[in-house]
Amino acid sequence: MEPIPLRENEEKQINNKKVENKDLNKSTTSPKNFSNIYHNNIHNKDVVGLTDMCFLENVVESELMNNLQNRFNKDLIYTYIGEQVISVNPFSKKPNLYTEQVLKSYQNMYMYEVSPHIFALAQDTYKKLLLSKESQCVIITGESGSGKTEASKIFLNYISKICNDSLENIEGIMKLIIESNIVLESFGNAKTLRNDNSSRFGKFIEIEFDGKGSPISGKISQFLLEKSRVHSRAIGERSFHVFYQFLTDNKITSKLGLSNDPTQYKYLKDSMCFSISSINDSKDFQNVVESLKQLSWTEQDMESIWRVLGAILLIGNIEFSNDIEKSNVDAVYISTPEILKKVSQLLQCSEDSLEKSLISRSLTLGAGKRQSSIKVLLNQTQAKETRDAFSKVLYDRLFTSIIDRINLTISTTSSSGNNKNNHIESTIGILDIYGFEIFENNSFEQFIINYSNEKLQQLFINLVLRQEQEEYLKEGIEWKTIDNYFDNTPIIDLIEGQPVGLLKLLEEACLIGQSTPELLIQKFNQFFSKNKHFESFETSNNLLIESLSFTLKHYASPVTYNLDSFIYKNKDPLYQDLIFTMESSKDKFIYLLFNKDFQKNNLGVKKIPITAATQFKNAINDLIGKLNTCQPHYIRCIKSNEDKRSNYFDYEGVKHQVRYLNMLETIRVRKAGYCHKQHYTRFLCRYKMISKDTWPFWNGSAKDGVIAIVRAASGIQNIPSGECQFGKKKLFIKSASTLFHFEELRQKI
Ligand code: ATP
Ligand code: MG
Repeated sequence: MEPIPLRENEEKQINNKKVENKDLNKSTTSPKNFSNIYHNNIHNKDVVGLTDMCFLENVVESELMNNLQNRFNKDLIYTYIGEQVISVNPFSKKPNLYTEQVLKSYQNMYMYEVSPHIFALAQDTYKKLLLSKESQCVIITGESGSGKTEASKIFLNYISKICNDSLENIEGIMKLIIESNIVLESFGNAKTLRNDNSSRFGKFIEIEFDGKGSPISGKISQFLLEKSRVHSRAIGERSFHVFYQFLTDNKITSKLGLSNDPTQYKYLKDSMCFSISSINDSKDFQNVVESLKQLSWTEQDMESIWRVLGAILLIGNIEFSNDIEKSNVDAVYISTPEILKKVSQLLQCSEDSLEKSLISRSLTLGAGKRQSSIKVLLNQTQAKETRDAFSKVLYDRLFTSIIDRINLTISTTSSSGNNKNNHIESTIGILDIYGFEIFENNSFEQFIINYSNEKLQQLFINLVLRQEQEEYLKEGIEWKTIDNYFDNTPIIDLIEGQPVGLLKLLEEACLIGQSTPELLIQKFNQFFSKNKHFESFETSNNLLIESLSFTLKHYASPVTYNLDSFIYKNKDPLYQDLIFTMESSKDKFIYLLFNKDFQKNNLGVKKIPITAATQFKNAINDLIGKLNTCQPHYIRCIKSNEDKRSNYFDYEGVKHQVRYLNMLETIRVRKAGYCHKQHYTRFLCRYKMISKDTWPFWNGSAKDGVIAIVRAASGIQNIPSGECQFGKKKLFIKSASTLFHFEELRQKI
């Protein structure tokens, strides 16, 4: 068996430790013991490298890279930068890193006491939730395939294990959240060229805790599913996993009268990838069904889901023809009536109405009393677009309704038993979104994905690099500003700037009926041709090039986007006729997917439709607002190589990521900065027993009380000068060992 990657001293210490001790406020390691580990860490550099890169003597790229590489080669995939965990994806299973024994060894420990691990970060997050009663969030970043989703699962698993020792229902909530994750991965993940299990949606899972730190409920928010994947994707990629999974179940397919051969469905066939060696669709399907059962889905509920999935696959096989040669009319009819019939049976809607909705469109003319409606017949292109829009909306609604239902199951109102009257006091949120991606052909979806990664990068820069330093200055702490980091604000301004940004111009193009990609690129050029983060291959006197594109110089890399379908995808049209048809479905589940669709307010006036990008911008800004109110924790994932090769460290590829993740600057700020800061009143309240002056009562100012405590603690064990800095409102502590010292004294006295 592979050894657990703990340092020698840590192993001894953990073996000696009473792991049954459930009091998370207490640590069983003495300061002396701790300081051994602390030094051992540096002396053992040759064996395990530096566990925390803040210990780097020379903060230069080559040393950072060598450390990461040395550790990676010894199967030590996690490394700290202060309290951040850097994770380098090994692309090979390391079960020994996650055994029950290893998990227990992290319980009750401080991050700096144990080897870097996501367990340590999860323990720290939970401990901070208990101590501060403030909401926490874990922001997991990294490019596609770097290991974010795996990290989020490891984190969730740890939290569920350390919380499961109380009431039965609590274990239930964590279990349900984990089961939900299995379902969401099946419906929201897919194989891309970069990752066999790529998340095609953003996900924010919140675990809600009561005042005692017990999880009582949960909430899942999702951000913009890449629904166009249902009908098209690059060769070598797959649609969402669930399509391939449910086709492996002969019982279901034969009951629904469907072929279980994925090559029979145009929507699956076109990208020419059906099975993946790393994935067992049949086994995964059994797990999904089991999870749905745990989430109280009945057989009947599930059958509705399988019928929608079957219908979507068959919709893709519907074909259109016209008699243009005979009658010179380009209006189409459906040339595959037997498939149409089957689709209407699966969706339990009128075949006639479905047919009309796919080959014609109602147009409303005039207004008020003069309003009338006419039917316009569609040509081939329009009919195909309508068909694909229909399947994609069906899938999107299905996905949203599954999440809505999961949320009902895991929300407070539905949690039963003893927890019913408990209040949510704080939360731990876990953010796992799609990672930065570049393909040969990048479209609207990549634009949205990369935009959201820019926002997260900006949040990181704001919290870790900028605000941290601003606070030192504001509090009057001695500080030499570090500002040579890569700041991505200009790119965000270019995208979402007011009054003019790319999103704004795109939005305007969608609201003007006649806008075209050509006009849009002209607008982009008009405003941004001089912006150094923007480049366009289109000039106003060259309208003949085949595809219109523009390049954005993202923080991670420049990406060229093909603009052709931006307007269409952003408008995301679904015509009323199809909505009316679906509202007539006799299947309650399907009916409910569409019945909220009236785009009218109380006065019956049509609202201006919100475009996809604006919806996303609002959602991501709400999310950032929420994250800003939590204490953040970071897992920064790195992809070891582009080819998913096991245990292979591509030096140049990793270096590129290390650069754009601003890792060197993060180390510099962390190294020179303070690992912990606390308001004087809070610190006084927690540690007042350390000084005879402040215990049991203190009448002076909070700051003077804290000074007395620090003086008393220094008298018991020397605290090096400069370790504690007194700001205007807060105490700043430089190293974790000093904070640990205060904790130890608090426990002893
Ligand atoms: P995306 O942005 O595309 O969703 P991601 O960052 O979520 O990508 P993951 O799906 O978590 O990436 O990881 C990709 C693959 O890498 C996993 O399916 C797994 O095979 C491997 N992997 C990731 N993390 C680990 C790990 N800690 N140990 C072993 N293998 C891992
Ligand atoms: Mg993922």
